[in-house]
Amino acid sequence: MDFDLNEEQRMIQETVRKFSEKELAPKAGERDEKELFPDEAWLKLSELGLAGLLTDAKYGGMGLDCTTLVIVMIELAKGCIATAGTYSVHTTVQFILQTYCTEEKKGEILPDLASGSRIGALAITEPNAGSDISSMTTQAVPHGAGYILSGNKIFITSGGVADLYIVFAKTDKELKHKGISALILEKGTPGFTFGKKENKMGYRGSPTVELAFDSCKVPGTDLIKNEGDGFYIVMSALDRGRITVGSMGLGVAEAAHIAALRYVKEREQFGQKIASFQGIQWKLADMEMNLSAARLLLFQAAFLADKEMPFTKEASIAKCFATDMAMQVTTEAVQVYGGYGYIKDYPVERYMREAKILQIVEGTNEIQRNIIAKEIL
Ligand SMILES: Cc1cc2nc3c(=O)[nH]c(=O)nc-3n(C[C@H](O)[C@H](O)[C@H](O)COP(=O)(O)OP(=O)(O)OC[C@H]3O[C@@H](n4cnc5c(N)ncnc54)[C@H](O)[C@@H]3O)c2cc1C
Repeated sequence: MDFDLNEEQRMIQETVRKFSEKELAPKAGERDEKELFPDEAWLKLSELGLAGLLTDAKYGGMGLDCTTLVIVMIELAKGCIATAGTYSVHTTVQFILQTYCTEEKKGEILPDLASGSRIGALAITEPNAGSDISSMTTQAVPHGAGYILSGNKIFITSGGVADLYIVFAKTDKELKHKGISALILEKGTPGFTFGKKENKMGYRGSPTVELAFDSCKVPGTDLIKNEGDGFYIVMSALDRGRITVGSMGLGVAEAAHIAALRYVKEREQFGQKIASFQGIQWKLADMEMNLSAARLLLFQAAFLADKEMPFTKEASIAKCFATDMAMQVTTEAVQVYGGYGYIKDYPVERYMREAKILQIVEGTNEIQRNIIAKEIL
């Protein structure tokens, strides 16, 4: 494994870090408080050319690798988790389309996603199908040259703001996971409507929305790959998605650590800076250790993905460790701030609320442990 970033990766890291500090972080608290989607930030991120990071240059993207994606995700999440989360899903959507669609379809839809002028979303979860994807009941019934899509999805990131949705539905309801197929659904399709927007603990700038499909007509050309390939497609996409969510965990934890380091050098109690207390120093040292370990695990998983080697176990390890670590580090950051840590005037309480969602999405951390156990047993 090469621990050195190449020149291009360093340049991108520097650019995104500055963008995040200047454009994202100053407004992250307000976005959280008022549930504001980061549309201005999205526009600027798109102007930087970042919206199609993994997508081939021939479709208007940057054609970069998973390691570079980790670098970008960490910096975005340090500044604004709503922007990072939108970006993570948008990138996964493009990965699926680029990997599994026909050349004709890719040429038709990828350029607008890669430029950021259209946003992508992923619709898997249903009221009674969360961790157990195979029990989904949304149906795509073959009809003429296409499908009739009916059912409901919940908790969909970017619901309403996204223009293009990859919807997972049963084309054969008698089968469990082998009956799932992936379909492209455009916003505005007759019968496709948005329901409740969730009122969340954190990650509030990113809309989490219900989708309803009432006999939506989907052309056969909008089926991704073959009927019954949906489960395999979602699993391959989630492997990468787990690396990006783990990277968000590292970004949020780094932001909390930076805030804590700054605070302990300012706050005085018992006539001295609280940084001089060993009890505080050990908390900061533990944070540093955990951040370093998460960083190595994330780069390991990305390295394997980039080399096209198996990385399912490593992606789950990195996601689970980095996001559990983020919960621990952000909680300790609140503790280091004392009472002020619990007050919304300081960002650490937000970081703690943000870390929580990362243990749940892209497969809960219990599911990650199941995957790791299955791989080693
Ligand atoms: C803010 C937010 C954004 C989201 N964005 C999206 C999105 O864009 N697209 C999308 O499709 N979904 C999205 N989701 C849904 C998310 O992926 C699911 O919430 C998640 O997969 C868990 O499913 P569930 O909520 O139904 O929990 P459940 O599956 O009901 O799990 C409940 C508890 O049981 C545990 N559990 C379940 N099965 C097992 C098992 N086999 N072994 C051990 N423990 C188990 C879980 O770990 C959890 O602790 C989002 C959710 C939220 C809250």
